This record gives sequence, structure tokens and C-alpha cells, in this order.
Amino acid sequence: MSRRLFGTNGYRGVVGIELTPDMAVRLGYAIGSYHRGGALAVGRDGRSSGEMLQGALISGLLGVGATVYDAGLVSTPTLQKYVLERPDLDYGVMVTASHNPPEYNGFKIIGSDGVEVPEEVERGIEEAFFSQGFAFTKWREIKEVRKIPDAGSLYMKEILKQIDLQAVRGGGRRRVVLDPGHGTAVLTVPHLLEEIDYEVMIIHGEIDGSFPHRPPEPRPDNLQALSEEVKASGSDLGVAFDGDGDRALFCDEKGKVWWGDISGIAIGAFLARKGLCKSVVTPITSSAATELTLEPLGVRVLRTVVGSRHVSYRMRKEGAIWGFEENGGGLYAPHLLARDGGMTTMLLIQLLAEEERALSEVFKEIPRLHQVKTKIRCEPEERKKVIKEFMERYGDRRQEIIDGVKIWFREDKWVLIRPSGTEPIIRIFTEAKEKGEAEAMAKDFSKEAEEILSSPKT
Ligand code: MG
Repeated sequence: MSRRLFGTNGYRGVVGIELTPDMAVRLGYAIGSYHRGGALAVGRDGRSSGEMLQGALISGLLGVGATVYDAGLVSTPTLQKYVLERPDLDYGVMVTASHNPPEYNGFKIIGSDGVEVPEEVERGIEEAFFSQGFAFTKWREIKEVRKIPDAGSLYMKEILKQIDLQAVRGGGRRRVVLDPGHGTAVLTVPHLLEEIDYEVMIIHGEIDGSFPHRPPEPRPDNLQALSEEVKASGSDLGVAFDGDGDRALFCDEKGKVWWGDISGIAIGAFLARKGLCKSVVTPITSSAATELTLEPLGVRVLRTVVGSRHVSYRMRKEGAIWGFEENGGGLYAPHLLARDGGMTTMLLIQLLAEEERALSEVFKEIPRLHQVKTKIRCEPEERKKVIKEFMERYGDRRQEIIDGVKIWFREDKWVLIRPSGTEPIIRIFTEAKEKGEAEAMAKDFSKEAEEILSSPKT
């Protein structure tokens, strides 16, 4: 098996262990060599190691003849949109570890279409990285780095084009609390909301790579501060972002924080009611509430492997305009075929304005199912055995084998058994109408998986 650098979300590693300036320089050589130099934009999120790694990466890129534009501190969708809009750029690199803990950082390679590159491109870069046969540029041909001061303004201008400004500005002044979680969403999203006359309050707004107040991954169970602030200020909604601003979770006016599949379904249903949305793309892990809500509206639900780029590619293939992930990623094709927390926020706000409803009412309409996520240890070479055994044992049930195996028991009850792409574990997800039922299923299937693993039969 060939050596790999890239996982589900580009390259990620712990700074000072696998991720050193030396590694970043060599990655710069490899990325630049693969693209035969070319012109690219490089940006970074607010992690403490960002400047060091971005500088090293840029040195490597320049060394093999690339033309580098430096976007500095940006959110990931800001850089992606910039690469998409500038016809002279061949690609982009974002220095980010998204929602991972502060000791991590990483690199995400973006194609000229603004979307994370497919695995083939990553393979090509890996080959260059490990072969180390780099052709260095002669001194006369090395280019100067050019700064991009306005990536954020372009991004905001483009988002505002997608929104019905008259609709969202009408109906009295509304109030929102934003929790960028010390990440880079703060550079653009508050201005977008001020642009549509919202009263904006911000918590955890200073960019800080140590993420002092909450983890960079927003989850309903770590957003108490946001919930409190929404209630105390009487706001219409709250929004929390991950470290690089491509994911958004929403808090309703009563202070309840919802997972991203609920907001994703709500936006899909809104677009369907407007006659704009014929199909919606979402990974295999999102709630069955997706089909239960959207299919009666005439929307086809298309499921993919876990990983936002698979949602992007499928949307492009099917011409779908909306896709989402349960972690808060929302993809709106007319803007960008990639996750964008700012765009997702604006779409939800347009829904509230046009339908004149409170957010809690919108979310309450969606069937409430319960998911339980658990995992068990499993060595990579044993994964296949476990999946195969479950497929056989539950052969009389409806199964989906897009990513691991998903076994259906009812239209609102399923289990997904899926090997991790990055760790020696198998993830077991269950969903059911009652919380207890989902919990019991998770327990039973974990036990069954352990039994399969410990059985001598191979
Ligand atoms: Mg992210």
C-alpha cells in the first residue's frame, strides 16, 4: 500500500510532531510540482501555528516556481470563493485544521472550481511528496508573493447577491448572537448581518488559536454560552461556527441549539416550497427526518459517503442546489459547491424573513428522531470482516452500502456500521424515534460487533 498524507479532510496533524515547518516546505514543493508551478491563493485560519506553516508552505511553493497570492487570515469558504472567482488562479491551499483541537493544523487543497480536490489529485501530490524529485526554480524566475487584502469583501459581496435583500431587511429590526468560537468566521459574518440591518452581538469573537472558551467544534452540548446569551438578549437566533467558518449550528429564540441536519432539512424544505429545489444531497449519517420531511415536498434525497467533498461532487453531478451535513455544513450551489457557514446563515435568515416564523417553530415541524453515536476499537484489517458479517446477519433487512453498512428497521429506525477513515475504530450510529430505543440499539450492535471481532472464525 502506498504511503498516504491526506485523509477525509485534507492533511491533518499535530504541530511539532508530524506537522513541522520542514514538512510544510516539502509539501509546498510537492503541491507546486504537481501543479507545475501555476498560480494559487494561500490562506490560513486563526491557529497559533498558522503563520509558521503558511510561511513554510509558501517558501516551498515559490521554490518550485508557483505564483503565490497570500490571503492571510480568512475563513475556509472565503478562500474557496476567492479561488473560484479569480479566473487566473489554478488552485488554492488553506492552512486549517477546521474543528480539530488547538494542537492540530493541516492543509486543504482547493481546485480552480473552489471545491476541495478529488482523491486523485491528492494521490498525485503524495507521489511527488514521497518521491522528492523536485525541480527547483532558478533564481531569476522566483516570483514575489502578492498580498490579497480583499478576499473577505469579495466573499461578502457574492453572498449578498444570493439573498433577497428586500425580504431580509423588512419586518422590523432583528437580533442575532454570533459565536465564532474564536475562529475566522468573525472576519465576515458579522458584517454580512449588519449589511441586512441585523443587530449583532458577538461572543468568543477574538481570533485565538488556543480556543480558550469552547472547543473549535460546535456541538449542541458545548454551546451553553450562546444559548444563555440568546435568551438573555431576547434575540431571534444564535449561530455558532467551527474554527474555519465552514460549519454553522443554530440556536432558536428559546435557547435550544440544534444539530445541522435539522437546519439543513429546514433550508431544503424552504427552497423546495419556493420551487427551487428538486434534490438534496446529504451523507449517509444524516437523520431519516430528511426523507420524512423532504420527500412529501417532491424532493429526491441523495445519500453519499461521509465527507463534504463527496456531497459537493454529487451535487454537481445531479445539478442539486442544496446539500448539507449533520455537523452543520451547508452547501448552496449557486454560491459555492462547498460548505459555507456564512451562506447557510443567510439562507436560514431569509427563510425566517420570508415565512415570518420563529426559528423554534420552523425546527419543531421536522420529525424529531434520536441519534446515538458510539465506537469500538477495530484494527484496519478486521474492518471488512465486521461489515461483511453484519451484511450477512441482517440480509433480510433493507441495506445501504454506500459507506460501511446501513441497516433499516423502519423508515425512522436504522443502524450504520462504518469504519473510520483515520483511526483504528468502527463507528456505530443508530437512529430511532425514542431515545431509549436508539440507545439500546447502539448498545446491542456494539456488543454484537465485539462478538464478531472476538470470534475465531475469519
Ligand atoms: Mg471546518
